[in-house]
Amino acid sequence: MLEFIRSDLSQLSAYTQHTNDSHNLPKTLDRLDVNESPFDLPDELKQKLSWAYQQIENNRYPDGGSEGLKDAIAEYVNESGGSFTAENISIGNGSDELIRSLLIATCLGGEGSILVADPTFSMYGILARTLGIAVTTIARTETFEMDLAAAQTAIATSKNPPIRIVFVVHPNSPTGNALTATELDWLRSLPQNILVVVDEAYFEFSQTSVASELSQYPNWVILRTFSKAFRLAAHRVGYAIAHPILIAALEKVRLPYNLPSFSQAAAGVAIANRQVLLSTIPLMLAERERLFSALSQISDLQIWKSDANFIYLRCKQPGSRSFSSRSFSSKNSDPTIDLCQTLKNQGTLIRHTGGGLRITVGTPEENQRTRDRFYQFFS
Ligand SMILES: *Cc1c(COP(=O)(O)O)cnc(C)c1O
Repeated sequence: MLEFIRSDLSQLSAYTQHTNDSHNLPKTLDRLDVNESPFDLPDELKQKLSWAYQQIENNRYPDGGSEGLKDAIAEYVNESGGSFTAENISIGNGSDELIRSLLIATCLGGEGSILVADPTFSMYGILARTLGIAVTTIARTETFEMDLAAAQTAIATSKNPPIRIVFVVHPNSPTGNALTATELDWLRSLPQNILVVVDEAYFEFSQTSVASELSQYPNWVILRTFSKAFRLAAHRVGYAIAHPILIAALEKVRLPYNLPSFSQAAAGVAIANRQVLLSTIPLMLAERERLFSALSQISDLQIWKSDANFIYLRCKQPGSRSFSSRSFSSKNSDPTIDLCQTLKNQGTLIRHTGGGLRITVGTPEENQRTRDRFYQFFS
């Protein structure tokens, strides 16, 4: 059937939101599975957005280059170091679009492959495979640092095609750790013919950035997004910061009107009102620490410090000395699957990934329920 479809696509499946099968679940859900902000825009900003919507000429295409927004973004980025202009910025329909544009601009047509350290953000691998681009995966240590020796070997031995992009997240998703000094040094040592993508989707939570170094490394690009701390996931706006020549390449492969007028307006309002929007971050960080301490009390869990708006944990292996077997049904050898399903039935959605669980920090009430449901499961 439909023999015109590329044969390798049969190996892939479409990206689905796991909330799709939610018809059997409780009415109110704690959606703690995709790292969104739990807070919608304040009414005052919704009013501003409604006004912005009224100004849009709906019969006209958007500003294709999103020029006004680029200026505003450059100014915002400069607050944390650097002297960037609109020439250093490309805007995508979510940073997912920019990941795809980077792959198209570097690896397509058999010219390159990519390197990722698992567990990490899944879209790099997913998008690469849809373009027929090979993905080399290396492991991480117990504290989720990249296995740099393996990375070095992978790069040295990759020939047909060679590795052209190294993707890192700073701090990493799902594990929450920022790049270490050693990892950063390794990235600095990479040759100019390898593109280093530093995904700073959680920058506003971690306040860790390589922006101040970008001018020294024309083979680096930073990705950021309005979907997380800026509370704008509905509008799909992400951006890349890089050398103007790389930005020009991204602009060549971009679809002409990739960013709808209303999304541009929403991102503009968000940047102009960043003080208000980002004011919830101290609360989120305090809540993260509270949840971390609470879950640390459960002896069957191994849990890691996070620099982002989520926490990653795993269940200790059955058989390990501190493990008590009573909490788990014998159906699944990986107890986190039972735990994830139990929480889901109770209305708490979290993400099962990389052999562990990633829990987004929600509102104080949601976090309290998460804590209670974990305690109940392990009691
Ligand atoms: C959430 C996230 C993004 C954001 O993607 P958008 O397409 O901008 O919503 C990008 N990278 C990582 C690592 C993320 O976790």
